[in-house]
Formats: sequence, C-alpha cells, structure tokens
Amino acid sequence: MRSFTFHPGPRLIAGDGEAASIADRLPPGPCLFVTDQSLVALGLTDSCREALEASGRETVLFERVEADPSKDTLLACTEAGRAAGVTSVVGFGGGSPMDVAKLTAYLLGSGDELDDIWGVEKATGQKLPLILIPTTAGTGSEATPISVITCEGGVKLAVNARALTADWTVLDPGLTVGLPRHVTAATGIDAIVHAVEAYTSARLKNPISDALAQEALRLLSGNLLTACNEPGNIDARSAMLLGAHLAGLAFSNAPVAGVHALAYPLGGIHHLPHGVSNALMLRHVMAHNLESARELYAELAEIVEPDCAGQGSQARAAVLVDRLDKLVTNSGIATRLRDYDIPADDVPMLAREAMRQERLLVNNPCPISEEDARRLYKAAW
Ligand SMILES: [Zn+2]
Repeated sequence: MRSFTFHPGPRLIAGDGEAASIADRLPPGPCLFVTDQSLVALGLTDSCREALEASGRETVLFERVEADPSKDTLLACTEAGRAAGVTSVVGFGGGSPMDVAKLTAYLLGSGDELDDIWGVEKATGQKLPLILIPTTAGTGSEATPISVITCEGGVKLAVNARALTADWTVLDPGLTVGLPRHVTAATGIDAIVHAVEAYTSARLKNPISDALAQEALRLLSGNLLTACNEPGNIDARSAMLLGAHLAGLAFSNAPVAGVHALAYPLGGIHHLPHGVSNALMLRHVMAHNLESARELYAELAEIVEPDCAGQGSQARAAVLVDRLDKLVTNSGIATRLRDYDIPADDVPMLAREAMRQERLLVNNPCPISEEDARRLYKAAW
C-alpha cells in the first residue's frame, strides 16, 4: 500500500430539524452564536437559539459577519466572546460565519495572536468547544480546518490547522430550503469544484479522499438542477448538503488547486461570490489541465455521464468538462467576467494576484504560470 494520511472531520449529526439538538453537546456557560444578519432576519436561527436559551445558557449573538469576512470582523467577534466570557462557540450560516466562528473559537481558547498563525499548521493550541451548522450546500467549511479571512488590500489569508476542526457539525437540510436560486447554484458549483479539485489534487490525495470526492460529485451533479428548480425538494436539498460536506472532507485532505487560485482575486478585488468566481474559471482551468489530468477527469466523467464509460480517456475527459460547463449554464450563473462588469484591462492584475495563491497552485495537476493565468482570464472574459 502506498503511504498516506487521512484526517477525519468533525463528529456529525444529520437530519431534518437536528439543528435544535445542539444544546446537549455544549459545555455549560455562555455561548457565542456567530451568524449573519440576513439569517437572523429570516428567522432561521430561531430554533437553535431558543434551544440554547431553554438549556439555561446565555447566548451572545454576533450577527455582523459579512461575505468575505474581514480581519476587523473576526477581531470584533473575538472581542465580543472574550468580553462575555463565553465557554463555547456556534457558527451558523454559509462559509463566512463558519470561518469566523472557527478562528474565534481558536483565538479565545488558545490565547494566540492572529498574525502568528496564518498558514498551515501554525495554530497548535486548544480552541473552545465549537459546533458548525451550514445553511448553504457549498463551502464545506463545516468539514474543514480552514478559515479564510480578507485582510488589508483585499488579500485573502488562510489559517489551515487541525486545531480548528469543529467538535460537531450538524447537517439540517430544512435550513437550506429557503435559499434563493442564485445562491443554491453558486454554492453548489463551488462544492462540485471542491470534489473535482480534490480528486485531481497533485499532492495528498488518497483512496479515502478519492472515495469522498466521487460520492460528493455523484450527489452534487445529480441534484443541483433539481435543487435550483424545486427549492422545496427536501431530498435534493439533503443530497446537496451531504455532497457539499463530503467534498469538504475530501478537500481538507486533498487540497483545492488552480480553479480556486484564479477565483480568489475575483472575490477579493471584485467581491464576486466565491461560488460564482469558481464557476467563471472552472471550464478554462479544466481545459488547461486536460492533458495532465486526463485519466482522472475520465474517471470522474463516468459519474456525471455513465453512458460515456466505453469511450477512450480523452473523450471521457472532454465529456466531464462539457457536462460541468452545462451544469453551470443551466443553473443560471452568467459565465463571463464581462457579465460582472470586470474590465478587460484588469486581466494582468488578476493574473499577478492569482500568482500569490502559491498554497493552491502547488496542488494543480500541472503548473499555471502568470502568462497562463492571463490567457485563462482572457478566455473567461
Ligand atoms: Zn471553494
């Protein structure tokens, strides 16, 4: 057997209505509840917060997490928790509240300084008890030990350390039925990119991350359009939530690569939603990788299009690129950079910024130079 290491994610509870069961799994004492204003306004946090209050805990609500959360937001959240002397943290929402919750739980528990722990495995202290509850089927943030924060100048920095892994995650599909179509589409495509990039990751992929990525792609590609077209379809929502979680487990072991590296500047500088940024670059980066990743793309093609099984690997790899591109289009996401008012003149700057994502580029099946990146952004424009 070839040597490999696999890190399991948090303990998991899944089921409709399970979000209200979290109180039993937290220590006594005040709990910091990290979320965003829209989820509070929609009433989605009600059952969870009521369960916490009913258990006799004071709940300290921090609802000021924005998309692409900033360092200032993270530090304000940490300060709110410290001032209230919280003993646990709950992250509730999409990737942004969960990323803030993970780092807040770590900073409060360890006493470490944020600027000392950027990067891989620099955070080695003890976090506060942490539960993560996703309300989108996308980022997989509930499964990963990674937290991405937007710092000065729009640069995204990440903390990636096992110490950030949640103690529990709750997959409650009922929380996702109200998602608007464009959010369902963008977050679902993000999850699909996680599965594909984990399966083709140049480093650290292993038989378990492969199995997770394959099953994630099966669930996600088979249910995305149903979830978009029938938002109340709880079976499709459940499959998407589970698929996004499995993809998160896969890429927290076999990290994401070129699509994410080229997507990040679009989010950091132009504030496109993370899933949209990935959708814009997916086809072009896959075309760039086609030769190096041919066999792996061919294996994945049979999951999205079983009929192609008899074809050669080149044809099957092309089928995967084509089917995923059709999924993006049919989900309703506009597919060109110009559709989002990104000027063509920005291409050189975007390419330069993408080169800063060294931690992701090293995982791509083949190198992406700055010149390649310029060509790929131009193709996407
Ligand atoms: Zn992503």
